[in-house]
Amino acid sequence: MQKRREFLKKSGLFLGGLGIVTHYAFTLHSKKKKLGVCLVGLGNYSSTILAPALQRTEHCLLTGIVTGSPEKIPVWQERYDIPDKNVYNYQNMDSIADNPDIDVIYIVLPTGLHAEYAIKAANTGKHVWCEKPMAKTAKECLAIIEACTKNKVKLSIGYRMQHEPNTQQVIQWARTKPFGDIKKVKAEVGFNIVNPPNNWRMDAELGGGLLYDVGVYAINAMRYTTGMEPISVKGHHENSRPEVYKEVPETSIFEIDFSNGIKANGQTTASRSINILQADCEKGWYRLQPFQSYRGVKGEASDGMLLDTYIENQQARQMDDDALAILKDTPVLVPGEDGMKDIVVVEAINESARTGKPVRLS
Ligand code: NAD
Repeated sequence: MQKRREFLKKSGLFLGGLGIVTHYAFTLHSKKKKLGVCLVGLGNYSSTILAPALQRTEHCLLTGIVTGSPEKIPVWQERYDIPDKNVYNYQNMDSIADNPDIDVIYIVLPTGLHAEYAIKAANTGKHVWCEKPMAKTAKECLAIIEACTKNKVKLSIGYRMQHEPNTQQVIQWARTKPFGDIKKVKAEVGFNIVNPPNNWRMDAELGGGLLYDVGVYAINAMRYTTGMEPISVKGHHENSRPEVYKEVPETSIFEIDFSNGIKANGQTTASRSINILQADCEKGWYRLQPFQSYRGVKGEASDGMLLDTYIENQQARQMDDDALAILKDTPVLVPGEDGMKDIVVVEAINESARTGKPVRLS
């Protein structure tokens, strides 16, 4: 080794080599320190949550926007210092391919449009973040995954709960089983929506309805709490306001059997406020209540342990985690396959509601 060093020193390769390595590492680091993120769809979630959260990230910068609403452009440009060359519409967003300011395209559109635009995004060669629910059908989800694989870009689904520390404790307990085997899981999320919005959330074609919008949180929670996959799904819909909920269900109730005998009960509704995830185990229980909210996710266990770690901003953490997976080329926390498995269950709940029979999943 000593001889090798001396040889390198004498030949000048030692310092020179180090110099090259240092310079290379510095260029790579400085170039890729923060990823440029382009938001597609400047609706409520983008404008009130994601854009402000991006300002609080360590590894992301809001560098671009895609919008079909010209009146929003000057407001966003001024607020977030976005140059003209980084402003796109739905027709010309393909040319993001040539924009070095943008590393990630984040799809924040109505659910029924996720597949079309996530595939467009993947074809630009940029990494793709796609809001939950991933898409309307499992077939669409698969098409998104295939487009990302073909273009060799990373795909993350915006399930922010999996980035939240109390939820991560529950996810870990699926493996470590501190209260013995899990026997039963309950995951319910609902809101007392007196005046439903008059928009795509009430439109079946665009992927509206509570089951898609927040039911996927309950399904995702059942899967991460058990660490298992569903084998059988039974579901039905209820509607106390047929004059309002004309196209999409007001309430969906579902029972899911998991592979090792665990039974899970779920519910999602627009008629009352509920927000609970509970696991009943051989020797105790634990719950998060609320388990799905922007702030204040907290819980407790039957032995008195509190699950009350606080984080300031879930979405900033989610986007930083996803950015680091790109920067370090490591697996993302919530890949497309995870988003797709929930949509398989949503489709099974709808099929069971239609036929009155349980749907077996392979
Ligand atoms: P929104 O209605 O406020 O915004 C939707 C945006 O899409 C608008 O800017 C609208 O102009 C645009 N749009 C483009 N084409 C459209 C069309 N054909 N019809 C209707 N709108 C069209 O919705 P949102 O609350 O911002 O939700 C957007 C996405 O974000 C959804 O997938 C939703 O599930 C998801 N979301 C996720 C969270 C979360 O906590 N992860 C929270 C809210 C919303």
